[in-house]
Amino acid sequence: MGTAASLGVRVPERYSRVCYLTRGGRVAWIVRLVQIGADGDEPFADVMTINRPDGLDDIANLGLTVADGKQVLAGLQQEIVAAQTRSHSVQRPECRSCSGVCHLKDYRNHAVATHLGQVTVRLPRFRCTGCGAIEAGVGWPSHCRSTPEFDQLQAHFSALMPYRVAADVLKQVFPIDAGKDPETVRRHTLKIGATLRIDAVARPEMAAAAVAVTLDSTFIRSCEDGERHLEVRVGNVETETGGRQVFGAVAKTDTDVKVLIRQSLDAVGRTEDTVLTAFTDGCSGLRRILADAGISELPILDWFHIGMRLQHLKQTAGGLSADDPARVAAKAVIVEEVERLHWRLWNGKAKDAQISIDRIRAVMHHFQGEQGERKSIAPSRKLWTALHALDGYLTGQSDWMVNYAERHRAGLRVGTAITEGTANFLVNRRMNKSQQMRWSRRGANLLLQVRCAVYNGTLGSGYGQKFHPANDTHPHPQAIAA
Ligand SMILES: [Zn+2]
Repeated sequence: MGTAASLGVRVPERYSRVCYLTRGGRVAWIVRLVQIGADGDEPFADVMTINRPDGLDDIANLGLTVADGKQVLAGLQQEIVAAQTRSHSVQRPECRSCSGVCHLKDYRNHAVATHLGQVTVRLPRFRCTGCGAIEAGVGWPSHCRSTPEFDQLQAHFSALMPYRVAADVLKQVFPIDAGKDPETVRRHTLKIGATLRIDAVARPEMAAAAVAVTLDSTFIRSCEDGERHLEVRVGNVETETGGRQVFGAVAKTDTDVKVLIRQSLDAVGRTEDTVLTAFTDGCSGLRRILADAGISELPILDWFHIGMRLQHLKQTAGGLSADDPARVAAKAVIVEEVERLHWRLWNGKAKDAQISIDRIRAVMHHFQGEQGERKSIAPSRKLWTALHALDGYLTGQSDWMVNYAERHRAGLRVGTAITEGTANFLVNRRMNKSQQMRWSRRGANLLLQVRCAVYNGTLGSGYGQKFHPANDTHPHPQAIAA
């Protein structure tokens, strides 16, 4: 290790430059980086001179500006990389072919993007004096153009906001000269997404006695030829003690949702003795996935989905006209029957649901000619549609409905309501139609892997801070049931 002078760093002319008053009440500081070496030598480099007004009469002058901060960090990064490069190039590797002695051949410059700006690393190449083989000083893959941490940072930002916004935020906050291009941010994010397919999951020490698994599907707009939408499967596993993992995959990609389910179960401590309960709303495809993932019990229709439909039905019934005695009577019948329907479904009597539906239909003719307010559809028309939809839903789903009341009394889950929030958080907030975004199958799937990792707190070591989606309110089943 050389001294400051031999390392070619700029030595200040006078030590007193470190703090001196200039004209106009401005003060200059020098940021000096001192390398503490094992041999007691302490070479240093002056990173930058900061020039700030002296007084505090304007709060805008307090401390460093954003630009100052970026410049300091970028300068420190440059100097530290330069020092690392210098100590590295002193080391001589041993030839891998003949274990001969290597001599310096030449240097190659590698531009590497970091979150503190682009750095150029001057890396030596060596030639073996014995066999003439070329040895590189470091084993970086030749395509390494950015630090893993910077890739992760870009992925984390991109998981939460559109690539364009993520690129702009990064540019605002960090001294980044590379990566401010949204396409670069996207590429780095997808690269991280592709590396997130873990083979083995760290199992927690505590075994989970019971785990609820939910699986649902939603759609996003596609930019692929001949396809308008891509199907996205999302879900979560949850233990009684609050352990939770979310997962998601775009259909027809090489991410297998069955594998994700198994991994998620392992991650929350599933054992052979764990009682698994599955919830799903829906199609036979999702039920098959659950069965293939090793969940042998029939999935239960999530009460959340039924509750939502009942709530809608109640609201519409409450909005029916009551402008003549016949309608008042008919409305009372309907409101009561909707309550009874609710009770029947909640108590596992889905087969009797038809009785309520028929009773409602029988009095609906009283609302013929009912007018909607200001061009809106008449309430009776809405009720008819909602009733028809519920009827169709129950016809397809009644085999998977259970006695929710009994489960609830026994302290068992009747649904999760989480999938809806999870779907919103994982898919809709970032990928939905309102943003007019169109997705490629691969791009959507890899971004989804990043979003799940952010949610699960497994993205990288430094950034995997767990957070809760704001719309995930965990409504108490009773709130929907009541
Ligand atoms: Zn050799």
